[in-house]
Amino acid sequence: MYLFIHRKDLRVADLRAFDYLRSKDAEGIHLLIIDPALTAQGRLTSHSGRNFVGQAASLLHSYAKAGKELHVLYGDPVHVTEALLQSHPIDEVVVHADYTPYARSRDERLQQTVHRLGRRWISIADAPLADLEAFPAYTGRSEPYKVFTPFYRMWSSFIMQSYNPMGITTIHDLNTVREISGRVAVPFALPEQIASALGGTAAVEGSVKSALLLDRFVREHLAAYAASRDAFAEGHTSGLSRFLNTGAISARQAYEATEGLPGAETWLRQLAWRDFYLYQAMYHEDYFRYEHLSDLSALTDKHFGAWASGATGIPIIDAAMTQLNRTGELPNRLRMVTAMFLTKNLLCPFTLGEQHFRLNLSDYDNTLNRGGWLWCSSLGYDAAPYFRIMNPATQSQTHDPVGSYIRRWLPHLAHLSDKEIHQPLSGAIVDLKASRARAIDVYRSIAKQPIVQA
Ligand SMILES: Cc1cc2nc3c(=O)[nH]c(=O)nc-3n(C[C@H](O)[C@H](O)[C@H](O)COP(=O)(O)OP(=O)(O)OC[C@H]3O[C@@H](n4cnc5c(N)ncnc54)[C@H](O)[C@@H]3O)c2cc1C
Repeated sequence: MYLFIHRKDLRVADLRAFDYLRSKDAEGIHLLIIDPALTAQGRLTSHSGRNFVGQAASLLHSYAKAGKELHVLYGDPVHVTEALLQSHPIDEVVVHADYTPYARSRDERLQQTVHRLGRRWISIADAPLADLEAFPAYTGRSEPYKVFTPFYRMWSSFIMQSYNPMGITTIHDLNTVREISGRVAVPFALPEQIASALGGTAAVEGSVKSALLLDRFVREHLAAYAASRDAFAEGHTSGLSRFLNTGAISARQAYEATEGLPGAETWLRQLAWRDFYLYQAMYHEDYFRYEHLSDLSALTDKHFGAWASGATGIPIIDAAMTQLNRTGELPNRLRMVTAMFLTKNLLCPFTLGEQHFRLNLSDYDNTLNRGGWLWCSSLGYDAAPYFRIMNPATQSQTHDPVGSYIRRWLPHLAHLSDKEIHQPLSGAIVDLKASRARAIDVYRSIAKQPIVQA
């Protein structure tokens, strides 16, 4: 008997682990653990928490529809796993690899427990589009890439030569254990609130919805993606990130649906950025502790509250933060504009903005969010140069000339003309020109300072 634990792979087809499990030809316990460490402090009611619950409910629905069993338990993954290993004749524990700091330390503890109890621990790469565990050998480099463009060149040729297509195993091919011991089910039962949330509107989320979104994107928007992706008022991007991050859809499915079609190259480049950040999380120790390697003492949280609540007096910033706070959505261009504005014009440490996005984005992903914030704040290995500072008013004018995005989210400004609507209001908290000049000075000196080894 095996134990398979779902994490960022909330789907029932095209999982690398499923291909492996099928080859074992044994029955197994399929498990999803709701980990209090990840759901405490209101996280489950945040936009990303609600997204996760929706995808998890959909996963349960998919298992039930296939006549299979998914057990959902609540507790520290190490304790839950240990209890299961002590109560069932499980010979190996199978998971997909995860590379965030929390996931690494959790899996280290899990692995130790599994080995202490004399069972096998199998961790299989699944999240990236390319096999990033095999990639370093293909590149022949002793050091991992630090810069996107050469990474992308090599990654593209790796995909061309060694792409490993979607798996063919589905949950229908596996034999799931119906009942687990009361010695585990009872102490690790779900709290009532989570159990009822998981019983919600399951069928409409997850793999079904993401496949529909992908299909519509391919038919209606892929061909013009390069030209329209930054037109943030229109919403012509795929909207797949919140499904890719929970694993409700695989990057492989997204890739295979678009392969070779007009417009696919630019879109594939975005999936390559996703892989680039996952790669950094895998191979660059500093990726998650970059704030400790630069002297950020010149930065302050003075204007953070105004930024976070959409009260800066810069219309596009306030409109964007309003959309984010209300819906959990924010187009990529506006993530860049708001992040640069916070870190550069307002001279605020990127970690505060990163944290605000963590609590508010529906598609929050620790690795991709960090990559975006490092890039915008000119920190990390392949970041925007310190003197690159987007002017929010110009960005708004360029990508939404008639101001329909601002009118949508800030209706009290809807009466302004197409020209006026982008301009800072009279009470704006900073002057764009002066704050830009100051930011260049401050970030020049941050960039010049030798990295302080923590
Ligand atoms: C400051 C900042 C924070 C961000 N935080 C997150 C986050 O927490 N979670 C998240 O999924 N994305 C994050 N991004 C990346 C990007 O903004 C979103 O992935 C994108 O807006 C999602 O919309 P979409 O699915 O319609 O993308 P599409 O344009 O359709 O792109 C397809 C897929 O490619 C990937 N992708 C696209 N742009 C990027 C990018 N710049 N970096 C990495 N991967 C990308 C995503 O998986 C996306 O779903 C962040 C970007 C910035 C600048």
